[in-house]
Amino acid sequence: VPVQPEIDLQNRFAQQLPELSISWSAEEAQDPQLVVLNEALAEQLDLDPRFLQSPGGVELLVGNQVPDAATPVAQGYAGHQFGAYSPRLGDGRALLLGELTDAEGKQCDIHLKGSGRTPFARGGADGRAALGPMLREYLISEAIHALGIPTSRSLAVVTTGREIPREKLVPGAVLTRVASSHLRVGSFQYAHAAGEGELVRRLADHAIERHYPEAANAENPYLALFSSVVSAQAQLVAQWMLVGFVHGVMNTDNTTISGESIDYGPCAFMDSFDPAVVYSSIDQNGRYAYRNQPVIAEWNLARFAETLLPLFHDDEEQAVATAQEALAAFRSEYSAAWLQGMKAKLGLDQTLDDEGASSLIDDLITLLHEESVDYTSFFRSLNQAARGDAEPVGQKVHNGERLQQWLRRWLDLNPRPEQMDKTNPVYIPRNHLVEEALDAATDGDLDPFHQLVSVVTDPYVEREGLERYASPAPQSFGPYMTYC
Ligand code: AMP
Ligand code: MG
Ligand code: MG
Repeated sequence: VPVQPEIDLQNRFAQQLPELSISWSAEEAQDPQLVVLNEALAEQLDLDPRFLQSPGGVELLVGNQVPDAATPVAQGYAGHQFGAYSPRLGDGRALLLGELTDAEGKQCDIHLKGSGRTPFARGGADGRAALGPMLREYLISEAIHALGIPTSRSLAVVTTGREIPREKLVPGAVLTRVASSHLRVGSFQYAHAAGEGELVRRLADHAIERHYPEAANAENPYLALFSSVVSAQAQLVAQWMLVGFVHGVMNTDNTTISGESIDYGPCAFMDSFDPAVVYSSIDQNGRYAYRNQPVIAEWNLARFAETLLPLFHDDEEQAVATAQEALAAFRSEYSAAWLQGMKAKLGLDQTLDDEGASSLIDDLITLLHEESVDYTSFFRSLNQAARGDAEPVGQKVHNGERLQQWLRRWLDLNPRPEQMDKTNPVYIPRNHLVEEALDAATDGDLDPFHQLVSVVTDPYVEREGLERYASPAPQSFGPYMTYC
């Protein structure tokens, strides 16, 4: 059995921000069993996969044992959930084990989700997580990473040996999550509500040191921090939109300071193109619909700015004006990132004039919407059209004449198929395949899950025999709803 290596976990968050930390430990898992280990990520973290697969490693991954010097904490944060403010959310069922320096010298959080109730847990919340949703987070986060989008990662899922009551009794599990940090807009809201400007300043200093060290040299480091987060979030949300990803719970507590995607609950990839699409059963008013994501990100960033106002300027009016000006960058950055991404998806030269490109893109989006075209496979079939074979794309649209008109305009611009191959995925975690894999896993068969992970973590290379993974759901699957 491999011996436990020295795992050097730091606790800078806990030390620098004790007001946002409660020392806590995981609920003991009686019979921990490793379900999936991300070996490539383990190696990137300088952790030996053979050790992590051993009983001692599994004890570590599930939180039964912690490295010698580690001091796990539950993190405090507040947040606007569906627009309504909750002053005290925090890690109700999660723990920050500590910070690790990876093989490239980058700092990241090692975090447990589903590790038992903490003092932040509310009401009857049991502090636990079901295997299905933890595998869902593992699968989607690794797919998002493979698509080249900043995200928290998933190192492992371990079942606890406990059955937990959900819609029925289901296996309990812990996800070992890795993120460049777990600082959120909600962390700043919590510090701000504590009524201490000094605490917000310390949190901001921590965030600058951790994510945007160059901001420390700016005339106003806190304004530079804010602008950096605005920029990172604009880029992130543009990337979601370009791949048709719907996060589903864009609450301020799920909006990171790092600009990574985090908290994969009721998220889903869009199949038929529909700007108003919502998959989450709890999002009754469609607040977090696909098309609303940019404006919601901007709204969340406004809530972030409110916590920083005293650090922007002593004079409140001037502070507000400064914040508004900095926030205005979101729209232009978002639009530029979307346009650049769409040009790439269409194989077009980035120097193509924006007005011409925008009108071509807008007309395509209208066509996709009115014809309810499968978003992912449509773009991939354009690659073939760029190579001279317009047959596959023609099959996806009813109104052939309208499509042909659009194709002629586009082909006149000499799209480059090699570029398109790298930006239009063949494989995304399609909702019907995700459900099938999670259902099987909950019933004890992990093969479909492992197979789906291996397909979606190599999304741009088309492989023989995987047609099923590149095709839309059968009609019988019906409208999709998530219940996380
Ligand atoms: P989320 O919607 O995942 O961002 O979670 C919102 C809040 O609910 C966070 O404070 C979570 O820690 C908490 N929470 C969610 N599920 C549970 C649970 N089973 N037990 C305790 N707290 C939970
Ligand atoms: Mg959350
Ligand atoms: Mg969640």
